[in-house]
Amino acid sequence: ATIAHRPAALDASKLKYTFADTLKPVPPPESLVFGQVMTDYMLVANFDPQNGWSAPEIKPYAPLTLDPTSSCFHYCTNVFEGMKAFLGPDGKARLFRPELNVARLARSAERTALPPFDEKAVLSLIKSLVKLESRWIPKPSGYSMYIRPTIIGTRPSIGVTASDSAMLFVVMTPTGPYFRTPTALSLLAVGESVRSWPGGTGGHKLGANYASGFLPQQMAAQQGYQQCLWLIGENVTEAGAMNFFVVLKRDDGDLDLVTPPLDGTILPGLTRDSCLSLAAAHPSKTTLHGLPNVRLHTHERPFTMRDLAAWCADGKLLEAFGAGTAVIIAPVGRIGYEGKDLVLPQHKGAYGPVTRALWERIVDIQQGRVEWEGWSAL
Ligand code: PMP
Repeated sequence: ATIAHRPAALDASKLKYTFADTLKPVPPPESLVFGQVMTDYMLVANFDPQNGWSAPEIKPYAPLTLDPTSSCFHYCTNVFEGMKAFLGPDGKARLFRPELNVARLARSAERTALPPFDEKAVLSLIKSLVKLESRWIPKPSGYSMYIRPTIIGTRPSIGVTASDSAMLFVVMTPTGPYFRTPTALSLLAVGESVRSWPGGTGGHKLGANYASGFLPQQMAAQQGYQQCLWLIGENVTEAGAMNFFVVLKRDDGDLDLVTPPLDGTILPGLTRDSCLSLAAAHPSKTTLHGLPNVRLHTHERPFTMRDLAAWCADGKLLEAFGAGTAVIIAPVGRIGYEGKDLVLPQHKGAYGPVTRALWERIVDIQQGRVEWEGWSAL
């Protein structure tokens, strides 16, 4: 009788450490440029169909050696996450809702037919790496250590098929605030080249989703816009690597917070989810700093550029903002569309009241100044 072959599961208790002889100096926070300096260590685990997941390893940060035929180089079997560790006033490192990042990574791996992994194990391994590297988390408010968990297909064969081998790695870089001075973003609405489409992979975090956005992004920059506002037909979907929100005045004096629905063309952002939850909880469960004492009604529903222009013309549009891990919340000031600029209401210090309130609230939770629903812990 043959025994059914079961590849080993990823086991965080088998974590091995290899320590570096010398550690790099941590640069002063003010000098940090996003993604330029990586921390001393990385986490690596490999999967192959015979053995399953190898014992995970934390070892000195170094280049990888891969076969040129590896699946990831040809068929884009690459999935990744973006998350941050923050240093709280108590000097403890904190992660913001990290289980959601790991769950999204698992869904991205499934969508790309990469091998599955134990989510609790990956979360525990990320925490071990963060703990080891916590000296790299910059202290000033608004600073953090960006974490990039990645899975790549390593099947060494040119054959066009799913990658039955994979490498999981996690690397980290200390980072400053996205904007040093508060700025309202300019967006160029782009509908000719799209980042996602119905039935596509836009609802997952695949490397392949980003490659096609770089040329439109460069064209937007040449025309003087900071990011693309991605359209599908007339529908607004996302802005750059952020989910997109508008705040609308209602006839009853309350406000509507509206963002496009998760129909598979939009990345289910953690920041998006956090904004919706916090807004829905206001004012019954909490007060958002500086926010007018009105109810916020949250809506996940489609809207078009025509809707945006009409709301703007009617004076209904109060604010628009992008939400994502890198920027947290970024106000939007103008949107280029069909050769004209839609100029959105301008606010003192760039942030409108809802934009500011959500930004402050999320930052307070991330940095451990406010406890909320267990969103921030290590
Ligand atoms: N949309 C896209 C396309 C993104 O790349 C990101 C960044 N992960 C987001 C939205 C925001 O997601 P999150 O809030 O989870 O960072």
